[in-house]
Amino acid sequence: MVETLGKKITDHPFAYSYHHIGGEGTKITEGAVISIGYICNNSCKFCSIPKNCRNLYPQTERLKEEIKFLRNVFNSIVFTGGEVTIRKDFFDLIDFTKKIGFKITIQSNGRMFSYCEFCNKIVNYGVEVFGVDLHGHNDKTHDFLTSVNGSFKQVVSGIMNLKRLGQFVLSNTVITSFNYKFIPKIANLLIGLGVDQIQFGYVCIFGQTSDNKNWIVPRITEMLPYLRKGLDLCIKYKKDLIITLLPYCFMKGYERFVIMEEKKYLSKSRLKEVRCNVCKYYKICCGPQSDYLKLFGSKEFKPVF
Ligand code: SF4
Repeated sequence: MVETLGKKITDHPFAYSYHHIGGEGTKITEGAVISIGYICNNSCKFCSIPKNCRNLYPQTERLKEEIKFLRNVFNSIVFTGGEVTIRKDFFDLIDFTKKIGFKITIQSNGRMFSYCEFCNKIVNYGVEVFGVDLHGHNDKTHDFLTSVNGSFKQVVSGIMNLKRLGQFVLSNTVITSFNYKFIPKIANLLIGLGVDQIQFGYVCIFGQTSDNKNWIVPRITEMLPYLRKGLDLCIKYKKDLIITLLPYCFMKGYERFVIMEEKKYLSKSRLKEVRCNVCKYYKICCGPQSDYLKLFGSKEFKPVF
C-alpha cells in the first residue's frame, strides 16, 4: 500500500503522489504520478528501475481505474515509465485522462517526439507539460549513457518539434560521473533550444545504477563547481530550475531550486547522518542517499546553521 501526504491513496504499485517541499523557484508542488509500465526503448546506464521489474506492463483497464481514482484527489498527473510513449494504448490513455479533467505532464526519454506526426498528434490532446531527458551536450555523451546510438539527435529534434509547436518543455539531466564536467555545455544547449524549465537531478543509486555504482556515481564535491556554472548560466537566461537528490548543504545560494520529495518510501534509501540533527534543514531535508555514504562516507555533508 502506498502512503503519501499522510494518506493511503491506492494499492496500485505504479500509482503514487508527490508533494515537493522547498523549490520556491520551481512551478512544481504536488500531484499524482502514474507509471504506465517499465518497458523502455533506451537502456540507460543510470536507470533506477531494477532489472527484474523491466517487463512490468500494467493493462489498459487497470491503469484507467487507477487514473480515475487518483482524479478524486489530484488535478495534475505525471505519466512516467519506463518509456510512456511506446505503449500501444498511449493515446487512448492520454485521451481518457484528459477527458476526466487532469492536467498532464509526460515524462519521456524524448525520442518519439522526433517524429513530427507523433508530436503533432500528442500536442493536439492538450498535454500541459512535456518532460524530456537530455544527458549530454553531444551524441558521444548522451548516446553512451542511454546505450542507444542516435538517441541524442532524436531528443534534440524532439525538443525542437515541441518548441516549434509552442509547448512547455521541462528537461531532465541525470548527473553522473560521465557527464558532470559537461553540465555548463548541456545548460547552454538547453537554453539555446528554448527549454522552459531545466532540471538537474543527481543520480539515484538504485536499480541499474547500483550495478554501475563504482564508476557512475560522482563525488558530490567534485561535481559541484560544474553544476554551479550550469545553474548560473540558467539563472542568467532566467530559466526556471529544479535540483533533485542533492541535499541543501551543497546548494548554498541555490536553495530555492532544491525540491525534496515527501515520500515515506524514500526513508529506507535515505539516511540522515547524526550531524544532520543540528542542521537547520533537518526537518525538510531527505538527507544523503544511504548508498552514497557507503561509497564515499559522510565527510562532505556539513550541517547548515
Ligand atoms: S547536513 Fe544533513 S540535514 Fe542538513 S542539508 Fe545536509 S544532508 Fe540535509
